[in-house]
Order: sequence, then C-alpha cells, then structure tokens
Amino acid sequence: MINKELRIGVIGVGAIGTEHIKRINHKIKGARVVGIYDVLEEEKKQLADEMGIMFYGSGEDLISSDDVDAILITSIDETHADYVLKALAQEKYVFCEKPLAIDSQSCAKIVEAEVKCGRRLVQVGFMRRYDKGYMELKKLIESKSYGEVLMLHCAHRNPESGLHYTTPMSIIQTAVHEIDVLHWLLQDDYVSVESILPKKQTKMTHTNLHDPQILVLETKNGVVIQLEIFVNCQFGYDIKCEVVCENGELGLVDPHYTYVKHNFSNQTPISPDWQTRFKEAYDTEFQLWVNGVLNHKLEGPSSWDGYVASVITTAGTESTNKGEKIKVMLQEKPSIY
Ligand code: NAP
Repeated sequence: MINKELRIGVIGVGAIGTEHIKRINHKIKGARVVGIYDVLEEEKKQLADEMGIMFYGSGEDLISSDDVDAILITSIDETHADYVLKALAQEKYVFCEKPLAIDSQSCAKIVEAEVKCGRRLVQVGFMRRYDKGYMELKKLIESKSYGEVLMLHCAHRNPESGLHYTTPMSIIQTAVHEIDVLHWLLQDDYVSVESILPKKQTKMTHTNLHDPQILVLETKNGVVIQLEIFVNCQFGYDIKCEVVCENGELGLVDPHYTYVKHNFSNQTPISPDWQTRFKEAYDTEFQLWVNGVLNHKLEGPSSWDGYVASVITTAGTESTNKGEKIKVMLQEKPSIY
C-alpha cells in the first residue's frame, strides 16, 4: 500500500544516482528518498547519515524493506537484472537506469517475471523520450507532412570515456539510447544490425576500445539508420539525429545555447556532458514516473522496450566480433505491454 508520498530506496549512489537523489528530493513532487545501498559502504553510509536517511546492509534488504515503496537502480550495468528480478519477486515498482540488463536473455527473464506479476512494475531510464527535441521530431514524423521517413543519420559523441571503457560498452551502454529512442520515434521494429569499425582514433583510445564505431540498422519498413558512436571525440557532448524524409529533413539542435558573432567568427557552444544536455528530460521522466506509480499506471519505457533494445545491443556486439550483419528476431510481445 503506497501512501500519498512515494518512499524511494536507491541502489548504487555514483554519478547518476547522486543526481537522481537530488532531483527526487528537491524537484519532484510526491516522492522522497528514504534509504540507499551501495557497495562503497563506508563512504555512502556517511552520505546517508548526512541526509538523515537509512543505509541498508544490502540491496536485498533495501528491496524487501516495508519502509520502501519503490526502488531506483543506479548501480553499474552488470548488477541491474538481478536487482530488478528481486524487486519483481516482491511485486514492487522499480525504475532501472539503462540498460535494463547487459544481454537480451536477462531482459527476457525480466519480461517473463513481470508478466507473471500481471501488470507493469518496471520502467527503464530511456530519458531521451522526454527530451523536447525528440518529442517534437516524433510529432513531425507522425504528421506525415514531409512524406515517409527514408533514412536517418545519427551520432552519439562524448568528449571522453576513460580507460575502463571497452568496444562492447559503446554499444551496450552508449548506443542503447539511440536504439531505444529511434525505435520509439519510428514505431518500427529493427530487422538487422551491422557494426562497422572505421579508422581508429589514436590519441585517447586503448587496446580494449575501438573508437569510433558505426552501427547500421535496418527496420521492417525498410528505413536505414546510420549511427556513429564516438566516445572520445574531445570537443563536447554532441547528439545528432537527422531524419531524411521524402520531401524534407527533420533534425535536432543543441538546446539552451546562444551564438556569439565577433571578430569575423560565429560561435555557438556545445553541451559539455549528458547531465547538461538532458537535464530537463530527466526531470520530466522522474515526475511522470512518480505520478505513474502513485496512480498505478506506468506509461514510460517498459521492460519490453529494455528487451527490444538489448536484442539489438547483443546482436550489435556479435556483429563487431564476427564482422558481419546480424539479422534479429523478437519474441512475441506480451499483452501487458
Ligand atoms: P558510477 O558513478 O560508477 O555509479 C555506480 C555506483 O554503483 C558506484 O558507486 C558503484 O560502486 C556502485 N555499485 C557497484 N556494484 C554495485 C552493487 N552490486 N550494488 C550496489 N551498488 C553497486 O556509474 P554511473 O555513471 O552513475 O552509472 C550508473 C548506471 O546508470 C549505469 O548503469 C549507467 O549505464 C547508467 N547511466 C545512465 C545515464 C542516462 O543517461 N540515463 C547516464 C549515466 C549513467 P563502485 O564504484 O565501487 O563500483
């Protein structure tokens, strides 16, 4: 039984976990964070004390606590599936940061467990769907004013990624955002994916990372998407989405910025990071999730969407390893989605 104010427990309090806690406690109406768990016990226990909230002895303790109505999972990718399944075993609402799991089999298990609960309890952190630019693009595509969509040219560029970052992570952790949002924009399933490795950037890369990468995705309706993932581009956080239609081109611009013309130059800043670029989208995403949980009606990205994205990321990684195009098939979509 959930009271008027949703009591949230957070598992994994690193970069995005910390942001979401601030967001929930200071911006979002109808919810507050009541407890946390993180493997960095000493440090995060101190944080919990400073915030006057509970530090739980394990993720499992937090999930099963009667004082926690809903779970927010912001721990590392590899831990998501297990925590989501544990939350579903307790029939609790859970918001899981992307990716839902690191492979499609684990996502399929989550879908199966949620279907057994008979209703939607999971939302996945695909916040691009709440970005004003993408929402506008969706409306323009659906208006058909520019004819059918033929192809898309997209890019996901980060200034730098660090030494821990590997070639598969470019697909599983980074490209997964485009894979979800483009599926939602086009309302069209993917049928194949091919990973192409262009000339490697030399300065900021290492043996475990081939950067940049290109994914070519084909959809059931014959749309071809060319997606560049470049996680050490050095010049900014640069997100591109160009939709080429029969009689027009639709695209995103970097929001928030003002250009300066001076000394025979015309300068416009580029977003420095994902926190800045998608700040408003995260706020909207969380307010709608809290409203959805309080009304027992989740409408945001589902476990099914997490599964669809992971079928492509899994096949994309296989394509990198094999050097060939991989055809994809989805299982049948259950009626709760
Ligand atoms: P991060 O800074 O490394 O934070 C993750 C935290 O989880 C760390 O404190 C980590 O501790 C902890 N952790 C590791 N294993 C755990 C376990 N078994 N149980 C509980 N906590 C555990 O990473 P981040 O950048 O915040 O990313 C967190 C998640 O959010 C990732 O899945 C990432 O893909 C996703 N994300 C989404 C977006 C988005 O745009 N939607 C943006 C950024 C990140 P250690 O440091 O000791 O491992």
